[in-house]
Amino acid sequence: MALIVQKYGGTSVGTPERIGLVADKVAGWRKKGNDVVVVVSAMSGETDRLLSLADAVAGVPPPRELDVLLATGEQVTIALLSMALEMRGIPARSYTGSQVHIRTDSAHNKARIREIEDKRIHADLADGRVVVVAGFQGADEYGNITTLGRGGSDTTAVALAAALKADECQIYTDVDGVYTTDPRVVPEARRLDRITFEEMLEMASLGSRVLQIRSVSFAGRYNVPLRVLSTFEEGEGTLITYEDETMEQALISGIAFNRDEAKLTIMGVPDKPGVAHQLLGPIAEANIEVDMIIQNVAPDGATTDFTFTVHRNDYKKGLAILEKTARAMGAREVSGDDKIVKISLVGVGMRSHAGIASTMFEALAKEGVNIRMISTSEIKVSVVVDEKYLELGVRTLHDTFKLEQPEVI
Ligand code: ASP
Ligand code: MG
Repeated sequence: MALIVQKYGGTSVGTPERIGLVADKVAGWRKKGNDVVVVVSAMSGETDRLLSLADAVAGVPPPRELDVLLATGEQVTIALLSMALEMRGIPARSYTGSQVHIRTDSAHNKARIREIEDKRIHADLADGRVVVVAGFQGADEYGNITTLGRGGSDTTAVALAAALKADECQIYTDVDGVYTTDPRVVPEARRLDRITFEEMLEMASLGSRVLQIRSVSFAGRYNVPLRVLSTFEEGEGTLITYEDETMEQALISGIAFNRDEAKLTIMGVPDKPGVAHQLLGPIAEANIEVDMIIQNVAPDGATTDFTFTVHRNDYKKGLAILEKTARAMGAREVSGDDKIVKISLVGVGMRSHAGIASTMFEALAKEGVNIRMISTSEIKVSVVVDEKYLELGVRTLHDTFKLEQPEVI
């Protein structure tokens, strides 16, 4: 008998029929003797509907009141699911976030969970009930309702699993797991049986399709085994967990990519202490996140070139800031490109294998894909290429590293 926290997303509880289906699933787990805590999202589209109501009434709504409004979406689904469970003869009880003391800070609309009091939930479980908790919400120390940011129900589930010391946290969604890459780009992409927390974080661009990435770091920190699986199809899904030393790791677990990249270059800046700060300081102050950074060696010993990447949405803003900095510093030229993408190979197996990067570069070269930037970490190699090469690049690499074949165990 295990203690399992299950989370069902908006599409899984999107209609009364689907809520019935979820109740059947939960009942199945319960009847096998497991203790089950369920976290639900609002019915699909509901949070957006509430946001547009707020927008229509207030334009820029007061954050506190917005949270009171948004939290209602999940209050609907906890009640409906609990009713459906009771109908099936499964004793159940619904709770809002504040009722089970999901205590957060006071940052409305993006609150962070501070602590959870598990007494009430444990008492219900001991009495044989399924506990149904509203995702995405909590209350601060003054009892104000807070919400955790879009997709926050995943974080609620992981936090509950950590607080209750659950055996597993299962995230039920409309896809059946995490894939080696996006199947829309590579139809042969394979569902992974397991992946490490670290890899999953590096594959955020792929992972964010299935779960809120913040919940993965949370799970990693508290060592909560996390499983992503489909509400609508049977299957084991993908287990996100710690690296298991007894198991031989696949060299590469997946290929992530990012379409919304842009790069900015400043040429001929004086090569002296403080330059990087002078260039990137104003960018950071404008709240623009910088990903890759490359500084060239100064061929003339006096000036150097700098290139860095930002989110495409920040391209114009970043360019304007850089142009201003360039004038102030007497740099030669500023240029940029917002038609670039990033492709990354991810795998913990890389740590113990040399030559992954060179195999990657060779494969791309054979296809005539020009690499514009490179960056590496212990478990990742990323390249920036022109947007038009995204599909070709990802397919080539998927093929080169034979990711369509099951991993070796
Ligand atoms: N209902 C919230 C949202 O749509 C939270 C969630 O679904 O996880 O973002
Ligand atoms: Mg969601």
